Amino acid sequence: MSEESKNSGSSANDLDFLRMDWHKFLKARRAGAGFKLLENYKNDTLGDTDFPVTHVLWIQGAQCTGCSESLLDAANPDLLKAFEILNIDLERHEAFLAHQGLFVDGEPANTSELNSEILLDEISERGDYILMVEGAIANGPEGSGKYFMSGNRSSKEMFKKAAQNADLIIAVGTCAAYGGINVASSDIVDILDYRGVAFTKKDPSKGMLKVLGIDKPVINIPGCPPHPDWIMFTLSAIISGNIKIPDDLPEVLDEFGRPKVFFPPDHNVHKDCPRKEFFKNKEFDSCVGGEKCLLKMGCQAFLAHADCALRKWNDGHSYCVQAGSPCIACVEPDFPDNARPLYSSKKTKKKADR
Ligand code: SF4
Ligand code: SF4
Repeated sequence: MSEESKNSGSSANDLDFLRMDWHKFLKARRAGAGFKLLENYKNDTLGDTDFPVTHVLWIQGAQCTGCSESLLDAANPDLLKAFEILNIDLERHEAFLAHQGLFVDGEPANTSELNSEILLDEISERGDYILMVEGAIANGPEGSGKYFMSGNRSSKEMFKKAAQNADLIIAVGTCAAYGGINVASSDIVDILDYRGVAFTKKDPSKGMLKVLGIDKPVINIPGCPPHPDWIMFTLSAIISGNIKIPDDLPEVLDEFGRPKVFFPPDHNVHKDCPRKEFFKNKEFDSCVGGEKCLLKMGCQAFLAHADCALRKWNDGHSYCVQAGSPCIACVEPDFPDNARPLYSSKKTKKKADR
């Protein structure tokens, strides 16, 4: 064990990020120790050798690229450093890497270096990768998946091919995990026209994997968008070998497939709110820009099982409620219907429901 590890009292067990008590983990993270532990572990177990390369294939369905943008905000270390420590080879990502394609008579032309459709096929057929999915997968109209086309194929077709040979699937963001905004109740769209990877809303029997008859281990990292820590520390736990896939998943995930360390079943965002004194004193804001409780503006933090209030965003500076925006419980499987109409008090909600 390195001197630094001894001094910090860290051990390989400390790297069981997904098994850690969530308060303890947050403390370590705030002290900037998370990736330090990982570096120590690497030095202690592998010396100068890198972690074996982990191939990552990232595909996007119906989404806004917010999850990818959030990942770019990873801090301490930044994303590139984290990828270097973890030896991640991000082989294909539609937004980060130049997405290009040449088609002749509707068929992809050229080679994988110049055509990302061909690259996707080559990686999917080879296997040996973690599949990261951002966005819901379109199933409609009538099961064709053509509501969402990428290049010359539907996201359903793309997902099927990529999922078949994946070692593990990580659904990044609420759209990929549960359908998110794409499955909001509506008079004009059948919610089953869009699906999450392993769930649609709270229903695992309606996930796209079930539709396609594919059985793969899945980790859900919801959030609209998810915190970069949630994504990077999940990858760390897997790559460091501290979490065995699929054997350890039932222990570390909740009933909706979320890592319990980031989405504690017995905790919610309201419990650590900096505005809680105002809540206790029944002092409420009625418009943005104030400092009081946001309940009357529709704050749904009671419903949100996540560590946002303590972890905070943008390198630990602030988060939704602190910045003045009511929590809309974006990490929950039934988002956004659970919080609709957004930013409205109960009274207004009743009115809106009439
Ligand atoms: S602003 Fe929201 S999270 Fe904060 S005390 Fe009020 S209801 Fe709770
Ligand atoms: S505070 Fe609420 S709305 Fe903001 S990220 Fe967390 S769960 Fe989502």
